[in-house]
Amino acid sequence: MTSNLMRGETGEWEVVIGMEVHAQVTSRSKLFSGAATDFGAEPNSQVSLVDAAFPGMLPVINRECVRQAVKTGLGLRAQINPRSVFDRKNYFYADLPAGYQISQYLQPIVGHGKLTIDLPDGSSREIGITRLHLEQDAGKSLHDQHPSATFVDLNRAGVALMEIVSEPDMRSAEEAAAYLSKLRTILRYLGTCDGNMEEGSMRADVNVSVRRPGEKLGTRCEIKNVNSVRFVRQAIEYEARRQIDLIEGGGKVEQETRLFDTGRGVTRSMRSKEEAHDYRYFPDPDLLPLELSEDFIEEIRRELPELPDEKKARLVGELGLSAYDAGVLVADKESADFYEAVARGRDAKLAANWVTGDFFGALNRSGKGIAEFPVTAAKLGGLLDLIADGTVSNRLAKDIFEIMVETGKEAAAVVEEKGLKQVTDTGAIAAAIDQVLAANADKVNEYRSGKDKLFGFFVGQVMRAMGGKANPAALNELLKKKLAGN
Ligand code: ADP
Ligand code: MG
Repeated sequence: MTSNLMRGETGEWEVVIGMEVHAQVTSRSKLFSGAATDFGAEPNSQVSLVDAAFPGMLPVINRECVRQAVKTGLGLRAQINPRSVFDRKNYFYADLPAGYQISQYLQPIVGHGKLTIDLPDGSSREIGITRLHLEQDAGKSLHDQHPSATFVDLNRAGVALMEIVSEPDMRSAEEAAAYLSKLRTILRYLGTCDGNMEEGSMRADVNVSVRRPGEKLGTRCEIKNVNSVRFVRQAIEYEARRQIDLIEGGGKVEQETRLFDTGRGVTRSMRSKEEAHDYRYFPDPDLLPLELSEDFIEEIRRELPELPDEKKARLVGELGLSAYDAGVLVADKESADFYEAVARGRDAKLAANWVTGDFFGALNRSGKGIAEFPVTAAKLGGLLDLIADGTVSNRLAKDIFEIMVETGKEAAAVVEEKGLKQVTDTGAIAAAIDQVLAANADKVNEYRSGKDKLFGFFVGQVMRAMGGKANPAALNELLKKKLAGN
């Protein structure tokens, strides 16, 4: 493994990172009200009296959000707490009509867990999960709608969030990026958060500190609301360097909350860090403690889908894929589903080569998603069937695939239309070989006097003469015979 240490003027530094990720729970309604949660709705069109904090309104816990949090906890191999408590976290803000957020503080629904990150060099590492708790999102202040007024949109107020807190276990921007990507993949497999960072469904607060290797943890800064994997990486690289320069210049890191300026690639101080006591947490008197039965938890455990690590292990162990191919395929749920549909009942390795090779290549060039792409899993499977039964060579299949991408047609239809069927008729192949050998009598002599390397040349010539359609095995066999003078 390469060293993660960063070099400063006075020696090496270790970067320490812990993340708090806010993930919006996939649920049709909010955490404590029946209002809808659709993204992009008309401002203030999805607000109940509870969300707007009208006096006397009472919150009612949404069972679906609780299920989703438990499911996520199980997916993170975490302790599920049978008893948890909702607390009020008090602060004043224009987009927080109640003057407090309902969250969980000392007794969260999910405790310690772990997540395995996959690094670009192929290695893996385990990152500790400290906790996961349920809380409400706040509304949104809109500063760009009017020259002198700020508008408030409460559509998001009360939407359920899972705050997933990691241990300070990451040691580089790379590891933090891998953590966020993996967490998003797991949430998507579970179906508990859509992971769309552009829509704000997932946002990361990134805590960064630096220390001399082996020393105790340094003072951290928290970079708020980073909304892409790339920005997480950039923010950490900038912030770690800033702290190293600061300490080496004789300064001291102050614990504070910072913002990442995506345009300039720098972090800026936002406010000094607030402490838990600033929020006057206390148990919400409108809500009973949340108690989960063993049955409820077990029922959710039984519903858990195969998760990326398990799927990867199965693709390697049972289907014989390389760890690299398996890793690429499972990193995205849609890709994994696509691959499995193509591979079902077919040669798993051939399917993996096609999906990770020609298919992903064409998909990336098209800029489309798998769902909109003209070559479906069934169509790619049809092409692989034609390779398997010898109708087309793998080589010819690549041309057919290109036509399928352009036209959206079935492989068999393309073969039929373009007359691309592989020629296995030995008479036709023999005739082409005779022609090529006659036209290259000098090379035939060279070959016969020991220049074996020319074999490939003859294969190429015959293939070309037959428009690439000759069955390669038949061609090789016949050519050998003919060159041997039979
Ligand atoms: P708060 O909720 O006030 O931000 P926590 O103690 O819950 O504080 O920590 C929040 C996050 O900060 C966690 O993800 C934790 O791993 C991380 N963290 C704590 N100490 C450090 C440190 N010295 N350097 C980097 N990250 C840290
Ligand atoms: Mg925090």
